[in-house]
Amino acid sequence: MSVLPKARSCPYCGKPADSLHRPFCSKRCKDLDLGRWLNEDYRVPVVEEDQGDDEDDGKT
Ligand SMILES: [Zn+2]
Repeated sequence: MSVLPKARSCPYCGKPADSLHRPFCSKRCKDLDLGRWLNEDYRVPVVEEDQGDDEDDGKT
């Protein structure tokens, strides 16, 4: 009965979405996408600091 929901891809980078940040894959993409909407033509430099392991409270 526990059917996993379809994995959606992050609309920003295309990675599999994270349940904590869906439909984005990470808070970073969420913020980036939000920022993009707010500042449509303004881009900030992004530091690639996470390799898919930016959650510090989701794993036990
Ligand atoms: Zn993403």
